[in-house]
Amino acid sequence: MSAFVGYRVLVVDRVSGRFLEGLREAGLEVEYRPGIPRDVLLEIIKGFDVLVFRGGVIVDREVIDRGLRLRVLARYGVGLDNVDVDYAVSRGIAVVNAPTASSQSVAELTIGLIIVALRSLHLHIDSVKRGVWSKGLYKGRELYGKKLGVIGFGRIGSRVARFAAAMGVRVLAYDVRDVREAVESVGGELVGLEDLLVESDIVTLHVPLTPSTYRMMDEGRLRLLKDGAILVNTSRGPMVDYEALLKHIERLGAVALDVLDEEPPRSPILRKLVEHPKVIVTPHIGAETIEAMERVGEELLAGILEVLGVETPNPRARPAT
Ligand code: NAD
Repeated sequence: MSAFVGYRVLVVDRVSGRFLEGLREAGLEVEYRPGIPRDVLLEIIKGFDVLVFRGGVIVDREVIDRGLRLRVLARYGVGLDNVDVDYAVSRGIAVVNAPTASSQSVAELTIGLIIVALRSLHLHIDSVKRGVWSKGLYKGRELYGKKLGVIGFGRIGSRVARFAAAMGVRVLAYDVRDVREAVESVGGELVGLEDLLVESDIVTLHVPLTPSTYRMMDEGRLRLLKDGAILVNTSRGPMVDYEALLKHIERLGAVALDVLDEEPPRSPILRKLVEHPKVIVTPHIGAETIEAMERVGEELLAGILEVLGVETPNPRARPAT
């Protein structure tokens, strides 16, 4: 460990051991308190320069105001929808995250969920465990030749499209940015949202949570999906209107969700949905791979040290140029 450089870091979520080591090697003092209750966080935050957290911790004005010496808010992951970024920045606090570190893991999970849904793997696995040899009980379909509608052609969406294209899938894409070149580079076609929803056999969401994407998949848009279509969401839970989804579930092929409005799901609507045989739910594990977590740690460590102006003893943790 290097000499203490005067900064104290509070880590309130599970993070990789290498990340903690990296902070300590750079001379930062680290308090590792994963899962501390909010009232404790509010009580102790005043003593720290850096707060490290994941998606479940709400970093709002109250937290920021109590953090009298805060200099960096560090989201151990991608989404910043749990952080009042504008307020933090207005208070001169830097907000750093690791936007690229988990793209591969989320894209792989998305392809996995699509195949689970197409082959009814969730039903077969569950049946065999219950002693029912389910061969012939559930339909299976190939990915090859299907039309995949990718909504949001950024880091994750474009990877999903690339993987799918390599498996003989026809990619349709919709984005609010001009992504024509990227879409065409995977042999895909840029289309309007309505056309994408009407034509796709599988629709997958890869947009950030913003006012324009909140409840993006509402009753009107769910109605446009084909009978038998598969809907996948590994982006953020609030993109989908779950009451409307329940109404359409019988005519859809399957729905695969890594994210929900409420995690874990407790409301009657979400419970009903989660328990439905056509619905596959994973507990927000898109970025939960050993590789992604380590990459997140490296990217975030570099970001934190850069803001604090602290030299890193580990060249692997230097920010990418
Ligand atoms: P990104 O910023 O690289 O790409 C998002 C794309 O969505 C951009 O191209 C943007 O132009 C587009 N977009 C924004 N608003 C849109 C709209 N209204 N309609 C259509 N397109 C729109 O983001 P990313 O890194 O690919 O992440 C995508 C999503 O995945 C985010 O919601 C992120 O929080 C989520 N994510 C989930 C997990 C998980 O564990 N499941 C992990 C990492 C990221």
